Amino acid sequence: MQYVSTRAKDTIVSSAEAIVKGLSEDGGLFVPSEFPSITEQELFSMQDMEYSERAAFVLSKFLSDFSIEELNDYTKKAYDRFYDGDPCPLVAIDDKTYILELWHGPTCAFKDMALTLLPHLMVASRKKVGETSKTLILVATSGDTGKAALEGFKDVEGCEIIVFYPSEGVSDMQKLQMQTQTGNNVYVCAIKGNFDDAQSAVKVIFNDDKVKNQLLENGYKLSSANSINWGRLVPQIAYYVSSYVDLLASEDIKMGDKINFCVPSGNFGNILAGYYAYRMGVPINKLICASNKNKVLTDFFNTGKYDINRDFYKTMSPSMDILISSNLERLLFEISGRNDKYVAELMNSLKTKGYYEIDFANFKENANNFEGGYSNEDMTMNTISDFYDENDYLLDTHTAVAVGVYKAYSEQTGDNTKTVIVSTASPYKFPQDVYNALTGEMLEDSINAAEELEEYTGIDIPEPLQNLQSRKVRFKDVIEKDKIKEAVLAAIKK
Ligand SMILES: *Cc1c(COP(=O)(O)O)cnc(C)c1O
Repeated sequence: MQYVSTRAKDTIVSSAEAIVKGLSEDGGLFVPSEFPSITEQELFSMQDMEYSERAAFVLSKFLSDFSIEELNDYTKKAYDRFYDGDPCPLVAIDDKTYILELWHGPTCAFKDMALTLLPHLMVASRKKVGETSKTLILVATSGDTGKAALEGFKDVEGCEIIVFYPSEGVSDMQKLQMQTQTGNNVYVCAIKGNFDDAQSAVKVIFNDDKVKNQLLENGYKLSSANSINWGRLVPQIAYYVSSYVDLLASEDIKMGDKINFCVPSGNFGNILAGYYAYRMGVPINKLICASNKNKVLTDFFNTGKYDINRDFYKTMSPSMDILISSNLERLLFEISGRNDKYVAELMNSLKTKGYYEIDFANFKENANNFEGGYSNEDMTMNTISDFYDENDYLLDTHTAVAVGVYKAYSEQTGDNTKTVIVSTASPYKFPQDVYNALTGEMLEDSINAAEELEEYTGIDIPEPLQNLQSRKVRFKDVIEKDKIKEAVLAAIKK
């Protein structure tokens, strides 16, 4: 399987190159040159596999540079790091609603599903393409990617990692997790700006030949651990396939029955992986894209206009406080009939004017399984407390956005299709807001809030979030948002 750039189809690379590079030189994103299919027979036989084997099987369809033995080895190592058994349990709430918990990994967010695996793919890909420079992973994070990437890449041979996060745009817990990161090849830095500022600055560096040459002189080449990297997306396809297989195995559905997924979205990487599973042939009815108050995606799905000329809000679901959803580019590529010139034009319009508009009728036809909705802050709070009262299940602030959007969707449409709500973080990553939703009391300190929440609900604080307060803070730098380039060059010389 080969990969092409969304902005220039004649740029063709292998899967290993796509992973090592992260981003195409023309600024586009790598996508598979075609979609492999998954047959009913294969879905059927996956029932007997463990999650790591299912993941390796799905990966093998896309990553033809790797043998199934290699992939099984990596997925086993990756998912062995999850702290309690099944890396992605599917919890039934009632006879048509399920929660897919993707946060049992080392940092308690769904990013671990891919970022425990990406380092193995990266090291192997480096060997396969004969890379002799060090790989410098640059990450912009809205909170969860940073920590998951740091845990994944710490002390990984041949790689160094630098993470930028918005100083005031992440939860206290997320900040503490990153500031206390261990490892000899890591650097973490806060910027005065929001996630979009961090992501844009990182993308500029990827396209800045001068900086790239300076890095090369020091023995480094850039790559990305954000979901713009194909190696981040492909592991995410596996859990969409696997939850279908779980529902088959539990006889909640019959082979061929369609299901919905509702996904709390920001950079559009998670839900895009669901779309890819659909393109492989997994029977999916609707992909419901849930946003918080930063509802640029909702508006896009309802009007065809993607417009970032609007206020940016800081919400209690910070990992979704994003206006520029990078992975939408990959969807635009598919639904425009893989029209690379058109995608390049749209992205240029976004960059220069802050918006683009597509042919909506045509879009509705080609992307007819997408729905968009959003939940404002009050609604998210109410969802957390209602869901806890009704189902004795504790949602984090991001998953609550999805639950709220799904509820509104099912009331409006009467759609009775069985629906999997993709749960992206442990409630203990956002303990103050979750505790406030349940009790009406806002606690000052996140560690204290986590302890109170544990006492109130009787649900244990996950092991990776215990004893954070006793870990040493290593990274306190805060820089202006236009100084990222300098910070990168300074960090590699340390
Ligand atoms: C990253 C993240 C999201 C958004 O996922 P995208 O792939 O960026 O759309 C949602 N919830 C949580 C908790 C996250 O960490």
